[in-house]
Amino acid sequence: MNIIVLIKQVPEIEKVRFDYEKGRLDRSSAGAVTNPFDLNALEAAVQIRERVGGVVTAISMGPMQAIESLRDALARGADRAILLSDERFAGADTLATAYTLAAAIKRLGKFDLVICGEKTVDGDTAQVGPEVAEFLGIPHAAYVEEILDVEKGWIIVRARMERSYYLMRLRLPALITVTKDINNPRLPSLKDKLRAMRMPIPVWNYTDLSEIADPKYFGLNGSPTRVIKVYTPISEKRKGQMISGSPKEVSQRILQILRENKILA
Ligand SMILES: Cc1cc2nc3c(=O)[nH]c(=O)nc-3n(C[C@H](O)[C@H](O)[C@H](O)COP(=O)(O)OP(=O)(O)OC[C@H]3O[C@@H](n4cnc5c(N)ncnc54)[C@H](O)[C@@H]3O)c2cc1C
Repeated sequence: MNIIVLIKQVPEIEKVRFDYEKGRLDRSSAGAVTNPFDLNALEAAVQIRERVGGVVTAISMGPMQAIESLRDALARGADRAILLSDERFAGADTLATAYTLAAAIKRLGKFDLVICGEKTVDGDTAQVGPEVAEFLGIPHAAYVEEILDVEKGWIIVRARMERSYYLMRLRLPALITVTKDINNPRLPSLKDKLRAMRMPIPVWNYTDLSEIADPKYFGLNGSPTRVIKVYTPISEKRKGQMISGSPKEVSQRILQILRENKILA
């Protein structure tokens, strides 16, 4: 089975600052880690390969430093990894990101399953997975918390939906996005890390993907989203009030407050 896992490198979210002028994260203000949900996606892929055989390919789009996340993916069990990196991919919104990732998947050739995290901890839109599926013209299931079966040509999953869940049977090739409840990602051993250090990671650029897709949809030029304004919403703190006195005085005061606030007529 040919499985592709999409992996995004994100800033350490508790340290990163926001650039209000430019309307985006100041990524230089914090270190970078692999998006935690993508580790669940990778673990799901490796578990399927361990059961039915095949190849797991990790793909990331980002600056050259994203190669560290791909190296970590190789240590955690991916068979190969590809980085999509070019200045002309920069400034991509979710649509251009998904278009570029889908172009890379098409360039790889035949595949059975694409697995993404349910969302990232920085952008947090949860749009990229379903958009990639649309660009590839394949079915998808989002928020998958259990893979019940992978059989010839099909995958059966349980997907979370607020307080209920869907049982879905998808014809392969398909795409799923997974929640953190699907598994516990394995930790790589020192031996795995050393092996990953020696593995080559090809970097595909604008020219490589222009053979497959229309380059006018890459990067900032291909991004219809425009950030108009960025601001921190004012969150009103709840106000507490102590009421003292006899039970009669306290209940009368409560009634008065409820009437003043038009909660009681
Ligand atoms: C107008 C605009 C300009 C932007 N400019 C920039 C910019 O200059 N630089 C910048 O870094 N970001 C920029 N962004 C943010 C960028 O759109 C997102 O980083 C990206 O599209 C992914 O969206 P997300 O983080 O919400 O992913 P989600 O949709 O929440 O991610 C879901 C899953 O998709 C996969 N995935 C998502 N992104 C990638 C990726 N890059 N590689 C591999 N897999 C991935 C992962 O499996 C992930 O778990 C911009 C956004 C907007 C709206």
